[in-house]
Amino acid sequence: MDKQEAVAQIDHIHALWEQLTRELTDVLDAHGVCAAVTYEIAVFTGVRTAVMLSGPPDKYYDVWICDGNGDLQQARWNEAQTALDGLSATGRAIRQEKMELPAAEVIDSDLWVQVEEDVLFVPLPFPTGRSSSAPRGGICLLDPPEPCPLNRSNIENLATHVTTFLDRAFLRQELDRQRVEFDIVYDLTYSLTATLRKENILNQLIDPMQRILNVEAISIGLTDESTGDIIFEETLMGPLFKKLPPIRLRTGQGIAGAVASSGESLIVNNVYKDERFFPKVDSESGFRTESIMCVPLQVEGRVIGILEAINKRNGNFNETDLRLLQAIASPLAAAIENARLHGDVLAEKRRVETIFSIMPEGMLTVNAEGQVTGTNDALLTLMGFESDEPLVGHPADEVIYVRSGEAFAQFIEEVYEADGANPQIPRDIERSDGEYVPVLISGAPIWNEDGELSEMIFQFSDVRQIRELERMRDDFFHNIVHELRTPLATILMYARLLREGKAQDDAAKADRFLGVIERESDRLQQMVRQMLQLAKLEAREIQRSSERIELNRLFDDLLPPLADRAVEKGLTFSQKIQPDLPPVVGSKEMIYSVFKNLVENAVKFTMSGNVRVEASKRDSIIRVIVQDEGIGIPEEAQPNLFKRFYRAQTAVERGIAGTGLGLYMVKEAVERHGGSIQVESVEGEGSTFVVEMPTAAD
Ligand code: ADP
Repeated sequence: MDKQEAVAQIDHIHALWEQLTRELTDVLDAHGVCAAVTYEIAVFTGVRTAVMLSGPPDKYYDVWICDGNGDLQQARWNEAQTALDGLSATGRAIRQEKMELPAAEVIDSDLWVQVEEDVLFVPLPFPTGRSSSAPRGGICLLDPPEPCPLNRSNIENLATHVTTFLDRAFLRQELDRQRVEFDIVYDLTYSLTATLRKENILNQLIDPMQRILNVEAISIGLTDESTGDIIFEETLMGPLFKKLPPIRLRTGQGIAGAVASSGESLIVNNVYKDERFFPKVDSESGFRTESIMCVPLQVEGRVIGILEAINKRNGNFNETDLRLLQAIASPLAAAIENARLHGDVLAEKRRVETIFSIMPEGMLTVNAEGQVTGTNDALLTLMGFESDEPLVGHPADEVIYVRSGEAFAQFIEEVYEADGANPQIPRDIERSDGEYVPVLISGAPIWNEDGELSEMIFQFSDVRQIRELERMRDDFFHNIVHELRTPLATILMYARLLREGKAQDDAAKADRFLGVIERESDRLQQMVRQMLQLAKLEAREIQRSSERIELNRLFDDLLPPLADRAVEKGLTFSQKIQPDLPPVVGSKEMIYSVFKNLVENAVKFTMSGNVRVEASKRDSIIRVIVQDEGIGIPEEAQPNLFKRFYRAQTAVERGIAGTGLGLYMVKEAVERHGGSIQVESVEGEGSTFVVEMPTAAD
């Protein structure tokens, strides 16, 4: 070629150059660049041209082929069958005769079937510094004529020129990809932090992650705090695992277990070659795991679980994929932890609310401004309100009104300053009906994390019952002293009379005196016995006795003396005891005293009329009825009848002796034998006590 020819050729090539530059300026996609280059070269040279660009490593080439008249086609050649390695080995442009190649290389080659004689091939060199997975390829003129506008000396420059555009396109693609990833990570992070339900978090995550990583499944395993195991729960797995039972990996087991215990991410591109892999999941699910990329989910250095991507659809997991998975792992871990904490807080809140609402004591919460923020039912009942409306939202010292002593506002102040101690005050507070109830108020401040007062909580204990109990106990002591003093004084008096010889010559008189002493001593003894019985009952000794008690015999012993006493008092006494009553099990002494007490009371509280005792059996229940026509019990006294030391006003006013312990013991004893007691009474007409008890099992 002479100089002129060479210059002309350069000019000529320059035209192609300019044309390509014009064409490629706006093409920012690698495939677009390849298509344009193929077309321009083929049209420019009139030679069938192929441009190849590698897809995922070891898989395929994307190939564009265009013949001289501009007919462009795209194909995908299996990499193993393309046989480019030999052509690109020198890294330079080469001219390769088909005939010179070994037959094995030519047969089945996607490239060589297109070729008659030879090719002009130049590898597309990519700038250094790219990883080995960077795309490879080449420009190939198929059966170029001789001479050809493109030849070994100028095609290398062209390849460099094309590479610049391809590289630009790759960079752009990479940038686009990163932007998309960034957007997705950003969106995911945003939606993760906005969700507090674990299921939602995972549902939101799985789909987009699967798409951007182009994997078959995403799964999440959470560390079981007590055992350290990793648990993949159904809801947490990707759709592929939906039907599997929860999978549990022990500490260190499987790839997930290894990641969780080391806290280090792992990429395993061929799991069946990795001894850490735990194939049981595959064997149970029928799913075939190929590759896994797994990262730890960490919160403040603590591994709370793992996130893994399974089976990348094209190629191997690489550093870019790992970075992406890691980027999402931190917000995911934080979101899961938040959801967990939120769940704990909710559970704690419900627990506190439940305790608050079922507390038998009245409860009131007051905020730092002194306004009522909450109450429980017990307080509403105590204060006689139907709803919390009159209290909540109002200043506490306006709704809690105390009768005397310092106002509630002052107590609030005291609680605020109490520094650790829980102050208490007894006060009478006003109810909605204007009545006052005696309460013991105690309070405690609740401080927030900054040490500021957030709320105060007050407890109102109704002390009416305690007061009533105190009153009854006082009465009891008063009574007991009185009860003891009367017989003692009588005994003493008659003893003195005897000693002074007041009945010296009169045997009948002396006998009468001794009779009085004897009767009064009996009474004293009975009282002491009752007190002892009470002590026994309270010590729960009864629970240990399990005698079989024959009731017919018991009534035979018990009733005659009481009947005598009734008749002596001028009453009538009748009884209807069913023969062959089945036995009951328990303490004979207690059962005896139950009926003795009831019949004695009937006699004691009846001035005239009849006392009647009935006992019968129905199914496996014994029913005993003690009925009288005595003074009766006022309705308002009836609920208190079985309380310790309680004596109805009607008994006290009439001066009828007693301790108020009998019925209390009766009820306790009956209930401990699995039975029940009821009373029906009309004041002035009489009373009926009904005891029901189970019979002994056969
Ligand atoms: P006590 O008989 O020693 O007073 P109880 O505990 O046996 O004590 O009875 C408690 C109170 O119940 C009595 O004080 C009385 O007011 C009332 N009561 C019990 N039984 C009768 C009855 N059959 N008729 C009228 N009142 C009764």
